[in-house]
This record gives sequence, structure tokens and C-alpha cells, in this order.
Amino acid sequence: MGRVTASLDDLPLRDDLRGLTPYGAPQAPLPIALNVNENTHPIPDEVASDILDEIAVAIRDVNRYPDREFTALREGFAEYLGHGLQADQIWAGNGSNEVLQHILQAFGGPGRTAFGFAPTYSMYPLIAQGTGARWVPGVRQPDYTITPDEAAAQVREVDPDVILLCSPNNPTGTPLDLDVIEAVYEAARGIVVVDEAYWEFAPREAPSALSLLEGRPRLAVSRTMSKAFAFAGARVGYLAADAGFIDALRLVRLPYHLSALTQAAAVAALRNADVMLGMVDEIVEQRDRITATLEALGYSPHESWSNFVLFGGVADPKATWQRLYDRGVLIRDVGIPGHLRVTAGTEAETTAFLDALASIESAS
Ligand code: PMP
Repeated sequence: MGRVTASLDDLPLRDDLRGLTPYGAPQAPLPIALNVNENTHPIPDEVASDILDEIAVAIRDVNRYPDREFTALREGFAEYLGHGLQADQIWAGNGSNEVLQHILQAFGGPGRTAFGFAPTYSMYPLIAQGTGARWVPGVRQPDYTITPDEAAAQVREVDPDVILLCSPNNPTGTPLDLDVIEAVYEAARGIVVVDEAYWEFAPREAPSALSLLEGRPRLAVSRTMSKAFAFAGARVGYLAADAGFIDALRLVRLPYHLSALTQAAAVAALRNADVMLGMVDEIVEQRDRITATLEALGYSPHESWSNFVLFGGVADPKATWQRLYDRGVLIRDVGIPGHLRVTAGTEAETTAFLDALASIESAS
């Protein structure tokens, strides 16, 4: 590593970045890592070999730039998402973080405002501020739900350029009703993004915000392959919106931003969506087991439609986090007083977490 000779204070950093802290979920090599809502199941062997075959073909052409419009991948996402979507309504990036960054670059930026109901995904303020936009946090009920009327009133008051609605919400797991999204859209002048990163873990019969896209050109629905698809390391996120919205994102993306290898891997993974998503039911089962066991232990888990559970009733979150760490279990202190968040792992990992928690203390 190079010698650090300058602190940030010594560098001509943008004033609006001074004092910010980078994203920093700990990456510790512990046996049980349930801290960043990954899918802890490895991808099945038969899918891995299909992906390798696709990459083997793509590698022969890496002397050339990749398809800038990632056509095959967009067609794959359009088919996967259904809802009558066409390929020209799809966008993708290196993780949904990059897709969100493209939205903030196109519709945020200096002098503009981005808004979301706190607590919500910790990267929203950072991505917004990275483009020079101001982040304004809205408020939720004490149980983290939002009603359509309150949501619309807050949006009218702030009048944001970009609104980020996380459905279900990270870090709380809270579902978001479509009528809240509709009310926010009606009340807003700006762009409304529904981040459905964890959508595949929601009840099957729940309607996705994709069903609201028709006739709403300022609405976008983002998804990721990092969670249900067990593809976090490949870095593939995507969104669906009006084709005109997609044209705006083309203005800010770097040319050829999705590598030929990423495109090949994602196309092959999508082709195997049924097998890739085979783990979802089991993860949902472990999530519900976590909720039931935490209740039995005297904690207060919040309703979750995702692959993680936020639980209250933790007397000293830092101490509990550390004691779990010392037992080889990594979970997340998301900074909400009295709370910790844990990802649903395999049955064995989930058991290890629950046993470790039961062994250290009782809830407050
Ligand atoms: N949205 C939400 C709500 C998330 O929790 C995450 C990752 N934790 C992301 C987006 C970004 O994920 P990725 O860039 O891996 O697609």
C-alpha cells in the first residue's frame, strides 16, 4: 500500500464531500457472515458450468468493446420481469447501486434534492451527495410503515427532484403498499424510483410496482441480481421504466459500462432463473424461523418481506454485536438504537446465529 502523506483536509476535495463517511459494512472473514443481505447459498453447479461456457465464448472477443446496449441482457430482463415490458424499457449497470447512480446523475446533481423515508438504504444519501444533490430524509411511523396521505404531504412539502422508495425497505424489511407509491407519484413533480432489490423474497401474490409503470413516465423500478439470484459478486443490477427515461440514463453512463464478461455471465444466469431462484423459498423459511425464534427469546423483530430481519429490544447493540462476532457470527449494527439486523442464511448458518444469540444474553 502507498504511504499516506495527505489527509482529506489537505486535498482540494469538493466542499460538499467534506465530513462524509464512505460505505463501510465490515468485511471480516468470519465463518458465519450474515451482515450484508447476501444470498449465502452458492450458485448451483449446473448453472455455474452454463455461465462458464457463456464466458468462454465471450472471452474470445474481449479484444473488442462489448455491446454498448447490452441487447441480449435487456431482452433477458424484459422476459424475466414480464408485465409486457420491452427491451427498450430496461436499463442495467454494475449493481443496482450504479443504476441508482445513473438516475441521480441524470436527475439529481448540484442544486437538486433527493428524498427518501428514513431509516432507509444507507447508500441513498451517499449516491445523491456524490452527484452534488442534497439529501432530505423523510419520516416514518414508529413501526416504520408509511401511509399514503403522510407520504404525499411530506413529498409536497420537500418537492424533491428524485424520490427513492425502498420496497421492501432496507434496513427494516417493511413492505410498501402500492397506494403509497401512487400517492407519492401524484404528489411529486420529480422522478420516483421504487427500489425492489429484495422483491423476490416478498409474498408471491404481492403486486410489484412494475404494475404501475404504464402511463407513469417519471416512475422507475430497480432490481438486482445480488440478492435472490445469488450473484452479488458479479455486480449486476437493472431497472424498468419508460423508454424515454432510459434515454436520459444513456447521457450519463460511461461507454461500454457493462463488460462483455458481466453481460455473458448475467445472460446465462438469467437463462437459469428457475434454478437460481430455487433457494428463495428456503431463505424465506429461515427468515420466518429467525422472526419466530427472536420473539421466543424476548426480542422484537419487525415484519420483513426481505431476506433479513431487523430486531429491537437489544439492550446494548454494540456489545451484542461484539459477542456474536467473538463467536464467529457477523451481523449488522445499522445504527438504530436498540436494534440489530441479521440476514437469513442457510439452515445451518441460521441455527449458528440463533444458538449464539441465545447463549449470550436475554433481550432487554
Ligand atoms: N438497494 C438496496 C435496498 C440494497 O440493500 C442494496 C444492497 N445492499 C442495493 C440496492 C445495491 O445492491 P447491488 O449494487 O449489489 O445491486
